[in-house]
Amino acid sequence: MTDFAATRAKFHLPEGVIYLDGNSLGPLPKSARERARRAIEDEWGEMLIRAWNAAGWMDQPRRVGDRIAPLIGAQPGTVVMGDTLSIKMYQALAATLAMRPERKVVLSDTGNFPTDLYMAEGLIRSLARGHVLKTVAPEGVEAAIDESVAALMLTHVDYGSGRMHDMAKLTEKAHAAGALAIWDLAHSAGALPVDLAGCKVDFAAGCTYKYLNGGPGAPAFIYVRPDHIEKAQPALSGWLGHAAPFDFDLAYRPARSIERMRVGTPPVVQMTILEAALDIWDDVDMAALRARSIELSELFIRDVEARCPALSLASPRDPARRGSQVSFRFEHGYAAMRALIARGVIGDFRSPDRMRFGFAPLYIGEADVRRAADILAGVIEGGAWNDPVYMTREAVT
Ligand SMILES: *Cc1c(COP(=O)(O)O)cnc(C)c1O
Repeated sequence: MTDFAATRAKFHLPEGVIYLDGNSLGPLPKSARERARRAIEDEWGEMLIRAWNAAGWMDQPRRVGDRIAPLIGAQPGTVVMGDTLSIKMYQALAATLAMRPERKVVLSDTGNFPTDLYMAEGLIRSLARGHVLKTVAPEGVEAAIDESVAALMLTHVDYGSGRMHDMAKLTEKAHAAGALAIWDLAHSAGALPVDLAGCKVDFAAGCTYKYLNGGPGAPAFIYVRPDHIEKAQPALSGWLGHAAPFDFDLAYRPARSIERMRVGTPPVVQMTILEAALDIWDDVDMAALRARSIELSELFIRDVEARCPALSLASPRDPARRGSQVSFRFEHGYAAMRALIARGVIGDFRSPDRMRFGFAPLYIGEADVRRAADILAGVIEGGAWNDPVYMTREAVT
């Protein structure tokens, strides 16, 4: 069993704040400070260049990948860290298209996070081989999988509504049509159980600053199915994905391991903070986490629906079809969220009218949820959303 009081004690949470935005940026693990200090002072400061070997910096992307692997149902040696999720999606898609050269369709859905679609557009433009990006409604994905599709590229849990795709079913459908499946795990990794190996997913990628609490700028991860690793052509053929980077060969030869998905120099300090954050997961049972996340989300929906008739649920009502976040539509959602944040309840806002709340059981409990719903009801009933100070848009919503 997982002791959620113990996990909560491992985070620094500011006084008077109820943090329901760990789906966007997880909070600071207390141990991260000391680990970052060590990396900066003891390793960089004292060891200098020697730290690449002596402090294990060079192996870090693979070592940390192996720690993420069990959280997403991946085998050791199939996950590596680096860059950002946008870049990892690009790499996954480029490798996929090279494995299905006769097919031209990249299939995604209109609920996808825009960066995935933008990266696909950019890749298609650079390839200039007549690929097309086809986006259909999320409910229409299954029916749109046919033998023209090279890559099915989806985000598992919708960033805006929390709607979750059936990874096993859609991956199987893609395979039956001869396509490969790429999954974006931004709102899945650390939020719910994922079984990449069991679903036979071809490629996956995710970020680590959301539910994994790696901090702003923490590197992304990429997964490649073991039998694809030696076939996956690195589109971003950087020197650290080379089979022997320190031979300084003039010709590129990819590593025969997951490390071929590395590109350049890794963000060591940032990844060290992530390593500290991952320690917390050693004592977490993903099934218990999921059960708790559902309890908290259900409680929030019940309380908000009972008290705020002006808000309408924008997430699936069935918890089995939802990730670890809940969204409500409200015409004045942006201003209401600003008013709510001013009262210590931090969620966020997604255009055009969605107020979004994430439930991370590692540091959020029932009392927080009840209190957040209470404060939200006060904001809605009291009309605080009507105050002009909350209406001007900031750059990050
Ligand atoms: C957060 C998020 C991203 C962010 O990509 P970065 O390159 O890390 O900025 C991508 N995809 C989804 C689905 C996300 O939710």
